Formats: sequence, C-alpha cells, structure tokens
Amino acid sequence: MLRVALLGLGGYAKRVAEAIKDCKRVKITGLISGTPDKLKSWGSLYGVPENSRYNYENFDRVGDNPDIDAVYIITPNALHKEQAIRVARAKKHVICEKPMALNAKEGEEMIAACKAAGVQLLVGYRLHFENKTTAIIRMRQEGEFGRIRFFQGLSGFKIGDPSQWRMQKKLAGGGALMDIGIYAVNGARYMVGEEPIWVTAQETKTDPERFKEGVDETIQFQLGFPGGAVASCLSTYNMSYLDRFFLNGEKGFAEMQPSTGYGPLKARTHKGELDIPHVTHQTLQMDGMAALLLDGKKPLVPVDGEEGLKDLKILDAIYAACASGKKQMLKL
Ligand code: NAD
Repeated sequence: MLRVALLGLGGYAKRVAEAIKDCKRVKITGLISGTPDKLKSWGSLYGVPENSRYNYENFDRVGDNPDIDAVYIITPNALHKEQAIRVARAKKHVICEKPMALNAKEGEEMIAACKAAGVQLLVGYRLHFENKTTAIIRMRQEGEFGRIRFFQGLSGFKIGDPSQWRMQKKLAGGGALMDIGIYAVNGARYMVGEEPIWVTAQETKTDPERFKEGVDETIQFQLGFPGGAVASCLSTYNMSYLDRFFLNGEKGFAEMQPSTGYGPLKARTHKGELDIPHVTHQTLQMDGMAALLLDGKKPLVPVDGEEGLKDLKILDAIYAACASGKKQMLKL
C-alpha cells in the first residue's frame, strides 16, 4: 500500500481523495491544511487519526510519521516549490500538482532537493495513465500514424470568480498557460513523441481590464520538433468548449475531444472510434504512482520531476517568445 498525505484540501484535493477510495494500492493516511475544521471533517471522512493531521506550520513533522510514504501537494502553484522542498527534507516522496513550479529554475531546485534527500518527485500528470490517451500513444509508437507531421492542442475555458488565486500572478505564476495551456504543452510532447527544439508564441487579450499584467488570457504558440513535425496550440481563460487534441501523421490521424477534462474523454482515429471504458483518471494515476513508487514500474510516459521540468522550460520559452516576439530555441 502507498500511504499518502494530502497537502492542501481544496477543490482538486477533494476529487483526488474521492478517487483514491477506488484505488487498489493507495490509502490516505495524512492530511495537511490551514483550516482546523477541514482537518476534522476530512479526518473523520477518510479515517485519518488526529496525530496524522498537520497544519502549514508543523507539517515538517510528517518526517516522524511511519504511516506516511508520500505527500501529495495540491495547493496554488506558487507554493509548490517551498512545500516540495520541506516534504523532501522530511524524507517523504513528493507528488506535486501541475504546474510543478512557477519556472524551470524552481523546478531544478525541487529536483535537487529530492535527489539530496533520496526521495522521488512525481508530478500529477493524470493523463499519462488515462486509457484512451495511452492507446493513442501506443498506436503512434507502433507506427499506425506513420511519420508525425502535425499536432494541434486547444486548451481553455472561461474563468469565473476574479478574486480566485488563479487570477493572481503572485499565487498562480501566470495565467491560462500555467493552468490549462500546460495540457497542450505536455500533450504535444506525448502525442508527437519527441521533444520540441523551438517555440514561437503570441499573446492576445480580448479583456485587458479583467486579465491584469502577468496573468495571460490567450496565448497561441507553436512548437517545432526535430523530426520536422510542428504543433499549433492555443491556451485561454476566455473561450468555452476548448479541449481538443489532433495528431496527424503520413498514414493516419488521432483526434481527442474532450482530450484533457476529467472525462469520459472521446477519441477516434482513421481506424474509427476508440471504444475503451472510462475509469476515473485520478484512480488510475494514484494506482500507477503506487506501482512506480513501490515496485519501480514505470508508466508509458514519465511523471517524474524531469518530465515536469521539461514542461516548465517550454512555458518559460513561451513567455519569453511572447515578450520578445522572437523564436526561442530549446534544449530539453
Ligand atoms: P483550490 O483553490 O480549489 O484549492 C487550493 C487549496 O490550497 C485550498 O484548500 C486553499 O485553502 C489552499 N491554500 C493554502 N495556502 C493558500 C494560499 N496562500 N492561498 C490560497 N489558497 C491556499 O485550487 P485547486 O483547483 O484545488 O488547485 C490546486 C492545485 O491543483 C493547482 O496547482 C492546480 O493547478 C492543480 N490542479 C490540477 C488538476 C489536474 O487535473 N491535475 C485540476 C485542478 C487543479
């Protein structure tokens, strides 16, 4: 059994906690929150005893708790780095939500801290365990689509409440690109199956009043891959129904819409509809992470800190391309 403490008991943590109920090899054995009432109610709901409940000041003490193997960080993006380093120093494995950190420099610090502590660092890339996504990746690996020429990734939604942390640069680190555009970045890499070598990007704001300096609303970006494929992607906080991947090769195509939501996802290729049953992504993810941490069984697409860092390097390059108007070369 992988015994996990959840750090940050907000909206997504609730989804993860519910999904873990169906896991075969994962159990919630610790809770970390700044709200005593949440610790109490979640503690009784998930059977976590009082001595395994912590707040943001004292959670370094998880190091003394033999019932916790890993801590899953599910807080606003700007808190990930410091919290991950504290968890690593407590000698527990770190599972961190996406984006792993605010930029590549922070990501590198997290990787170094986990390495120094001898613990693993994983990123909550749930789609790397999702059945339709992995089926398409396998088809690409087996050559079903032929040489890959093009990927399109459209990731966005209309954001609500302007006071939420996602609309504050200090906590979010950016805007739509950090939050939802990262799915198109990550998806371009696992769908094409190569690491991009250049980035171009353009930012537009249809609502500059609402999206303040540093909180990007809409960014279009293009990635170039060594095999000649290009990706054309869009990330936005101001459009609806934008959750689509399209992969085009010389012998076939794959299309997913929705492609990254909580599912059920829908996928078809030149051979027809993919008829694969939906399983809650976070249940598959957490059992997959248990297999990785307990048995060393690697998922089809990595979910380690290096994988998170590659995405952060691309996000940095996209922002740099927007700011400079110039093509950015990448070394991943
Ligand atoms: P949320 O606002 O619902 O929850 C955030 C939690 O962090 C809250 O419980 C809040 O109290 C706590 N928190 C601690 N310190 C805080 C501070 N200084 N300011 C604000 N809140 C603070 O957000 P969420 O949707 O649960 O997102 C949390 C993380 O999970 C983000 O990194 C996000 O990108 C990620 N996420 C991932 C997925 C996915 O599908 N993998 C989906 C949603 C969110």
